[in-house]
Amino acid sequence: MHSFSYVDGTLRCEGVELNEIANRFGTPAYVYSAATIRGNYQRLDTALAPLDHLVCYAVKANSNLAVLNLLAKLDSGFDIVSGGELFRVLKAGGRADRCTFAGVGKTREEIAFALKEGVYSFNVESEGELARINDVAGSLGMKAPIAIRVNPDVDAKTHKFISTGKSKNKFGIGIDRAAEVYQVAANLPHLKIRGVQTHIGSQILESGPFAEAAAKLAALVQDLKKSYDIEFFDFGGGIGIVYDDALSSGSPAWWDGQGSSRRITPEDYAAAIIPVLKPLGLRILFEPGRFLVGNAGALLSTVQYVKQTPAKTFTIIDAAMNDLIRPALYEGWHEIVPLRQSSADKIAMDVVGPVCESGDFFAQDRPLPPLQPDDRIAVLSSGAYGFVMSSNYNSRPLLPEILVDGDKMHLARERQSMDDLVRGESIPQ
Ligand SMILES: *Cc1c(COP(=O)(O)O)cnc(C)c1O
Repeated sequence: MHSFSYVDGTLRCEGVELNEIANRFGTPAYVYSAATIRGNYQRLDTALAPLDHLVCYAVKANSNLAVLNLLAKLDSGFDIVSGGELFRVLKAGGRADRCTFAGVGKTREEIAFALKEGVYSFNVESEGELARINDVAGSLGMKAPIAIRVNPDVDAKTHKFISTGKSKNKFGIGIDRAAEVYQVAANLPHLKIRGVQTHIGSQILESGPFAEAAAKLAALVQDLKKSYDIEFFDFGGGIGIVYDDALSSGSPAWWDGQGSSRRITPEDYAAAIIPVLKPLGLRILFEPGRFLVGNAGALLSTVQYVKQTPAKTFTIIDAAMNDLIRPALYEGWHEIVPLRQSSADKIAMDVVGPVCESGDFFAQDRPLPPLQPDDRIAVLSSGAYGFVMSSNYNSRPLLPEILVDGDKMHLARERQSMDDLVRGESIPQ
């Protein structure tokens, strides 16, 4: 679901006019809808109700404290990939004993921090990591709870940069070696085998790959249960969302798969996997990131120039690839709409940022209503892998993030100042 719609010709997020947010906090700026995040969480949680389950929000998708706090209040767990993310979760009121710690490169410091805070499970990606966690736990006089990330060699049918479950990817332990690596773990004195984990990729729009991975893993888990005290199976994240033109094509139910777009709903997802996972009789963890927050965000921006060349119309805006890198990195497609609704005939244009890279675009040859300097636009569905992947490239300050809840807006992160840009730097005397 999402909560961006035109009311009387102006675009709103829930009860707040986006123009009002732009007037108050300037552009570019990120806006998030609390109702969308809550709605998505509750809908997925309800779809998974037949399972003894825990939703562990993948923090890397959007790690603003206000977003994490909102999810913590819904009793969400968290999937973290660094010590920094654990720090954020704790700051936001989340519980360490509802955290799973993923990632192929955990450092000793991160492992020690997570052990002391009492994370629910380390999701381990290699034998080297098993040995290191055992070592750190031993030196602290603790036992580390672990699950091994098993790579089922399934094609998630998604962009190659966000596919993780094929045997050629760097993630996890191949399913054919899983039994052997569990034996290695069982022989390490400072580890406690607690579960099994998998994650096949991101932005997956069909239930087929999920069903295939669930079936492959369920067979393995049944086997492992005979030898070890397995308490949970963690099925990872990856549920895809719709990025297509919804608002502009006037199909309000697009995000429910009722429009022209292909879309996996939480109910489709649940139906594909519950029959396979329920008989395991275990606690099942899920790690959705994008699904919970992707459609909840918009990037507000102001048109600076309209540049006409013999080949194209370039609409140059004040946001850039350093603020939202998905188009440049994954050929990500985002719907772009003016804050003031327009019925003018659309013209094809490239919407680009000011950064000195040809990859700095938000849309190419996109039919949009004609835009003028100072017009404001929203780049929709940018709540996941948006702000979190931003940088100071071109010495551009990081953007503010505003959380809308009903008719209230909260500045969840201030815009960086020029001083912030050089903080910590110095010139040798
Ligand atoms: C990135 C990631 C997720 C979340 O993926 P989404 O596509 O955002 O749902 C979950 N689990 C792991 C291990 C990840 O790396």
